[in-house]
Amino acid sequence: MNNNLFEINHPLCRENLAILRDKKTKPEQFRAALRRISYFLIYEACRDLQMEDSIVETPLLKTSLKRVDKKLKLIAAPILRAGLGFSDVIAELLPEISIQHIGMYRDEKTLKPVWYYDKTPIEYKNPEKMRIFILDPMLATGNSSLEAIKLFANKNVPTENITLITLLCAPEGIKKVQHAFYDVKIYTACVDEKLNDKGYIIPGLGDAGDRIFNTL
Ligand code: URA
Repeated sequence: MNNNLFEINHPLCRENLAILRDKKTKPEQFRAALRRISYFLIYEACRDLQMEDSIVETPLLKTSLKRVDKKLKLIAAPILRAGLGFSDVIAELLPEISIQHIGMYRDEKTLKPVWYYDKTPIEYKNPEKMRIFILDPMLATGNSSLEAIKLFANKNVPTENITLITLLCAPEGIKKVQHAFYDVKIYTACVDEKLNDKGYIIPGLGDAGDRIFNTL
């Protein structure tokens, strides 16, 4: 694992993660804990956002200060459906962000992702100015995240401008992503132990989509 992996070990993250893992947690409480932890993960993932100088007039004087560079084109790509669990919070924290949904489901036999939706444009005008946040709460085998990263890399977005925001990671998934794209940053609340033979993260929290949308 290289140093582009950021595990947010904050007590508030750990507390909310414990709620999310608990099988007795009800869907409403699950969504509330996910929302809280999303703020912490997204806050950390934005730590290296490019800034620019700007002049602001306070009630007392004109002053020069730093703010997020307006020339950056911010994109969030929630992978349907669990990625939707992060998208309201990223839209709240970065109001200018464009939310470009991508849809893949996991073939239960092969564990390979199958595309069914892609709201990204055919090409980007200034790909070097883009900052992409891929929202994929469970980095398990790494297959879906890898597909999503390739989608943007194939549109000439520099891979160092791509950040993957996850809730839980399996070491297998991290390895797969970092082997293919060492400079993609991965933010997570926890690196779990392993995958089971069905591709679920252990200890994990079960199927994130089912728990968010109460389809168990
Ligand atoms: N997707 C999930 O929702 N949970 C897992 O444990 C693995 C993949």
